[in-house]
Amino acid sequence: NEPLLAVDDLHVEFVTRGGLVKAVNGVSYTLQPGETLAVLGESGSGKSVTAQAIMGILDMPPARIPKGEIRFRGTDLLKLPEDAKTQIRGQRIAMIFQDALSALNPVFTVGWQIGEMFRVHRGMSKRDAEKKAVELMDRVRIPAAKARVHDYPHQFSGGMRQRIMIAMSIALDPEVLIADEPTTALDVTVQAQIMELLAELQRESNMGLILITHDLGVVADVADKIAVMYAGRIVENAPVFDIYRHPAHPYSKGLLESIPRVDLKGQELYAIKGLPPNLLNMPTGCAFHPRCPYRQDNCVTDVPELYEISPVRNSACHYWREVLDGTDG
Ligand code: SF4
Ligand code: MG
Repeated sequence: NEPLLAVDDLHVEFVTRGGLVKAVNGVSYTLQPGETLAVLGESGSGKSVTAQAIMGILDMPPARIPKGEIRFRGTDLLKLPEDAKTQIRGQRIAMIFQDALSALNPVFTVGWQIGEMFRVHRGMSKRDAEKKAVELMDRVRIPAAKARVHDYPHQFSGGMRQRIMIAMSIALDPEVLIADEPTTALDVTVQAQIMELLAELQRESNMGLILITHDLGVVADVADKIAVMYAGRIVENAPVFDIYRHPAHPYSKGLLESIPRVDLKGQELYAIKGLPPNLLNMPTGCAFHPRCPYRQDNCVTDVPELYEISPVRNSACHYWREVLDGTDG
């Protein structure tokens, strides 16, 4: 049974002056209709690069994909001819970005920009496209949509601009929506509202949703499953409930302990020590070993495979059992 989207053993490299950077190093994940996958990691973990590879928006060169597949309903996007790719990317698979202000064009009204999706891809007249734009602005809960369709991006708040971006991304009813840090620039209340909106739109349309974030706190309520990335690899993947209660990788555990949780009162907030690895000079063995409180001697020499903990769970840690045992909850 082929998933809606399957990233399979994806490798992405960048040729830089300093040398070859392996930004994505054998990443696999799947997404079903109506499912929400959160991809969690620090900047430089490869989570955005993976999404850019799915969307075909990597700069090639310097980027190259030496290995792997990105299958959409069973078809490898990497092998499709250019015109077939553009039929899928941007239409059946859509993406929203972090920074709505720079993604929107300041000199066109928001109605014109949303309507462009319909004029360009559906050959609609200006009038019909504008009607559609108002409908979409309503759908993403922009108040007084009809009155505001001729306003410019700078006349909206950050949260409303992100809603406009969401309106554009869902205009053509995509089957997969990828949101890369969609709420990072927004305050906490607005973040929650945007997450709620995405969850609601997903329920209406049964899209598959990929939420890319460095902040598990923002996505925990809406995600079904989580893939935690570190240094270009997935180090743990699991249903959200499992990982939240019992992380099986020291890095996921550190991420969890560094967010405030309402269910653990009086906890001390913890920060993962050290810095993310330099991708040009990766640690030997387990890439997390310089920062890992569970490290043993063999961690410095042996790269951990992605061990299967259960049919729906993996951890790339030699000592995942100890990590699991060490979690209370
Ligand atoms: Fe830590 Fe070793 Fe597990 Fe890596 S393999 S996360 S260094 S215990
Ligand atoms: Mg990023």
